[in-house]
Amino acid sequence: MRKAACPTCKAPVEKGAPGTAKLYPFCSERCHLIDLGRWLGEEYRIPGEPAALPTVKSADDDAQ
Ligand SMILES: [Zn+2]
Repeated sequence: MRKAACPTCKAPVEKGAPGTAKLYPFCSERCHLIDLGRWLGEEYRIPGEPAALPTVKSADDDAQ
């Protein structure tokens, strides 16, 4: 049986374990909701200002 780490709390999760199979790779519904809320929070928090994303392409343009 394969094991994974819960993305939220890093607890070991057994894949296919009864009760958590539909929540995999999360160890519990609580951790699933925490992760989901984190994703939604980031999506809704886009303020339209320059994000801290890596701008690799513009760095290349300046090199010319
Ligand atoms: Zn967890």
